[in-house]
Amino acid sequence: MENLEKIWLEAESHLEETLPETKKQWIRRISYAGEENGVIILALSSAFYKDTAEKNCRTDIENMVSEIAGKETNIKFIVDESRKTAVKTPARKEVKPKEEKHKSQNTTLNKQYSFDNFISGDNSSFAFNACKVIAQNPGTSFNPCLIYGGVGLGKTHLLESIGNYIDEHNPKMKIIYTTAESFTNEFIDSLLSKEKISSFKSKYRNVDVLLIDDIHFLQKKDSTQEELFHTFNELYDNHKQIVLTCDRPITELTDITDRLKTRFRKGINVDLQPPAYETRMAIAMQKCREKGYSIDQKVLEFICENINTNVRDLEGALTTLSSFAELVGKPVTIDIAREQLKNFIIEPAIKNTDITIDTIIHKTATYFNVKDYDIRGKSRNKNIMLARHISIYLASELTSYSLSEIGKVMNGKDHTTIMYSVEKIKSIMETDDSVKQAINDLKKDILS
Ligand code: ADP
Ligand code: MG
Repeated sequence: MENLEKIWLEAESHLEETLPETKKQWIRRISYAGEENGVIILALSSAFYKDTAEKNCRTDIENMVSEIAGKETNIKFIVDESRKTAVKTPARKEVKPKEEKHKSQNTTLNKQYSFDNFISGDNSSFAFNACKVIAQNPGTSFNPCLIYGGVGLGKTHLLESIGNYIDEHNPKMKIIYTTAESFTNEFIDSLLSKEKISSFKSKYRNVDVLLIDDIHFLQKKDSTQEELFHTFNELYDNHKQIVLTCDRPITELTDITDRLKTRFRKGINVDLQPPAYETRMAIAMQKCREKGYSIDQKVLEFICENINTNVRDLEGALTTLSSFAELVGKPVTIDIAREQLKNFIIEPAIKNTDITIDTIIHKTATYFNVKDYDIRGKSRNKNIMLARHISIYLASELTSYSLSEIGKVMNGKDHTTIMYSVEKIKSIMETDDSVKQAINDLKKDILS
């Protein structure tokens, strides 16, 4: 074995131990491809993998190989499609049985969630880092913390990860994970007797860490809010950590008392956004490894290009495809994926910030042989009215303008007029193929 190959193998195993999961998964796709004048050549099976591995791990690898070699050692990435795309599974470390003193008393936590199997990208790094800081110093920084974001973006995953991390590192701490719904039901149940209410209160007011998922559920539940308010104050005054999740920012919560909202706003509020393509790829690969799915790289790329809503949908797509492959005993192709994922792939994302309403008006006017100012104007001519409705519809489909913004650009129409046009075109399209055709032609022209 060449000396540099040995250095690479040693570096690879150190990196496997020290790097976060987000980087490790790229390291596992690298294979040693030889050396050139003292430079280590590392191969990946596609340009995408090469670019991503290079962007994320070049410095870590260079530092590690230089350290092991005892002198500055350079690396070079190349694409070699003959390299297998399967990810090397990390060598299993012998798992030592947990010592008795680490026996957890916290049974409400779901052990499948951890920071290690959360892939953080630009969409989530602030939330991810804040959660880690909280887990490392519960009750001291960022208290309370509110994680908010849409469905399937990892709120529960992060909340449980905080609990699991604390449980592992501070096994004496009492941690409760609950959903706002369970909290509400338990509270209602406790109202049946004095003993029950006092045991409910003491259960929640004597924890070191309280994790409550989906607090939007508390809207309109006045008595539960009142109870949570007192629980919150008691814990907060005693420097106990509180972490909450919500499907929207606090300001958009309705029917929650102001005093509770003010409590939630203290500390830190962090948001989760949908992941970008590269992060979706990293998540998809991590899920395949975790669950033992074997899905071709090109198919994974197809899935990640098309499913951009949230991670839960991405996981659902992977499960659907791998069950399908198992059933038919054949690997999944892109055509099969397209067919099987019809329910997940609703419409390719077409909102485009480069498209202006002016362009839409101009192209629609030309198509219908009318003037741009006709479309902005008030003429009741049938042809002009149709062109006007269509350009409004296209503006709502192809741009990210809100209805009232479209209205402003269309000569000060209000948003109900705009909504009317959009609905009108939707219903005409159901029965009139020529209008449908006109819209498709215009879309193609505008997007080209
Ligand atoms: P939410 O609570 O926001 O609706 P979840 O935390 O339940 O979403 O996430 C949905 C699924 O997606 C879970 O299986 C979770 O493990 C997974 N998931 C979400 N975000 C990530 C991520 N960044 N990395 C890995 N898995 C993720
Ligand atoms: Mg959740």
